[in-house]
Amino acid sequence: MEHLTAETFDQNARAALADTQLRGALKNLAVTFGERRQAAIATVENWEDLRERARSIKDETLAHLDKYLTDFADNAEKAGAQIHWARDGREACAIVLELLKERDATKIVKSKSMATEEIHLNAALEKTGIDPVETDLGEWIIQLAGETPSHIVVPAIHKTKGQIADLFVEKVGIEKSDDVDVLTKTARRILRTRFAEAEVGISGVNFGVAETGTILILENEGNIRLTTSLPKTHIALMGIEKVVPRFTDLDVFLKLLPRSGTGQRLTTYQSLITGTKRNATDEGPAEVHIILMDNGRSRMLAHPTTRQSLACIRCGACLNACPVYQQIGGHAYGSVYPGPIGAVITPQLVGIGKTKQLPFASSLCGACREVCPVKIDIPELLLHLRAEIAEGVTETSTHKFSEKLAFGFYSFAWSRPEFYKLGTKISRLLQKFVAKDGKIGKTSGFLAKLAPPLGAWTAWRDAPTVAPKSFREIWKSDLENK
Ligand code: SF4
Repeated sequence: MEHLTAETFDQNARAALADTQLRGALKNLAVTFGERRQAAIATVENWEDLRERARSIKDETLAHLDKYLTDFADNAEKAGAQIHWARDGREACAIVLELLKERDATKIVKSKSMATEEIHLNAALEKTGIDPVETDLGEWIIQLAGETPSHIVVPAIHKTKGQIADLFVEKVGIEKSDDVDVLTKTARRILRTRFAEAEVGISGVNFGVAETGTILILENEGNIRLTTSLPKTHIALMGIEKVVPRFTDLDVFLKLLPRSGTGQRLTTYQSLITGTKRNATDEGPAEVHIILMDNGRSRMLAHPTTRQSLACIRCGACLNACPVYQQIGGHAYGSVYPGPIGAVITPQLVGIGKTKQLPFASSLCGACREVCPVKIDIPELLLHLRAEIAEGVTETSTHKFSEKLAFGFYSFAWSRPEFYKLGTKISRLLQKFVAKDGKIGKTSGFLAKLAPPLGAWTAWRDAPTVAPKSFREIWKSDLENK
């Protein structure tokens, strides 16, 4: 499958809107996840307090990230883990490859991890002839399909049951069945063999606890527990923002994350890993390697506005709530992280140059901010990035020049009362030719469609007409009539 890029977001979005199968797969996303989330948060009395608490823990951590990371690294090493530091994705991939080479390991199982997606670890492994096996069912499905995840929690959400059934026929060779039980049992049978022969298990990390050096990984299928405990070596890739100061902080995030993401009170499994196994006869890996990866996060940390992006706990709630994501799904964003949080962090991770369209892929309705368990102000971040993009626009761009000219004129006229009054009168006069039933929209006739940029706006939504009388005019005539 051809992987889309953020550079062509406009075209990607149009193609997604025309894809009826995709729209069918996404149609229940908002309702299903929205209702489940509502029901799950209703079981917590102090939901808003918890959100505040989570945000203050994140803010405290980010303000002293150097200290908490050092504490985490020291304590993890005391427990037997080995810590590696990676400045970027290239270094993180190189560390993984080196660890595999040293152990002569070629049989790798992986659990779902956005951090490994972020650095394209599978592609780096495949280049050296290693085929890592994804063990999360959704991830395994998209790996079979040669695709990328379209959601940070539910990677195969864009696929219908029928498409998955066809994929299993083609790639696994079973008889066609859209019985979920048959499909999951098939996946389990194949994956169990892979677990049994794996030499190294690679995972992500949900949280790392500074005071104990523990990592916490959440899941529902049991595949992460197998990935991190059956092979002799466990490699965990952790973004530096995943650290929290205290073990008790986990209580707050364990209440927030599953409820926000999948509408569960708690995920089925929570694996807490503190170093290696203590005795030779214990279960668990003999070696645990934790790679602490920056990959652009220090840049986000440096700016007071963008810093809050690092509070994200990757729950996916903002994707489920976003009216744009609900219509086009994740692939159209052309980035590993889709939806509102993707539109914010992708330009910061990979640079604004090729991702310019993403901060504009939002109506700024604020639904993402409403549901975010750590109260990230995504609209504020989107506006911040839009401003950065606008400031970087070159004067040679005629479209942007005309936009600047129009807004310059607007600002000049609307900050002078006499021009404002004149403009209102002219608008009232002109709108008679295009307004219908008190609005200017699709049905407003030929002229409304013609007049740019009004035509582009009214092709999809109605613009209100200028009121017959302004507030000042009404106020004045009321006073005169008294
Ligand atoms: S921005 Fe908030 S809602 Fe979106 S994934 Fe991150 S934590 Fe969840």
